[in-house]
Amino acid sequence: MSQLTVGKDVLSYCTKCKLNLSHTIVAMKDAKHIAKVKCNTCATMHAYKDPSQSTANKTRTKKTSSTASKVISVSDLWMEGMSNTSKKSQPYSIKGSFSMGDIIDHTKFGPGIVQKVVDDKIEVIFRHEIKLLIHNK
Ligand SMILES: [Zn+2]
Repeated sequence: MSQLTVGKDVLSYCTKCKLNLSHTIVAMKDAKHIAKVKCNTCATMHAYKDPSQSTANKTRTKKTSSTASKVISVSDLWMEGMSNTSKKSQPYSIKGSFSMGDIIDHTKFGPGIVQKVVDDKIEVIFRHEIKLLIHNK
């Protein structure tokens, strides 16, 4: 491995060109660490920036921004279900029999959409919460 000395060419991230470019070493921190470099392209003098580190930072930023997704809340589901139905609401009763997509009117929770039927239980989306109710009794 060649020794790093003032006047030698080295690859560094240029703060002005925003690219990994060939730079000339201007000052050394010690035998192994470069302090200052001069860009061979734009002639700007700046602190040495490890080119491999700057690329790693870039990929990490890109990843976090692309994974951001929209969170759907219960009220979003309720609003969507209510606007997509033409069914009339029916009062909820433990003795009633409901099926998927039915609109029920609960005395305590208000209007809700039946999204799932499991034997004698129905899963209903209300304005602020999803409830498991009993039917077919
Ligand atoms: Zn430059």
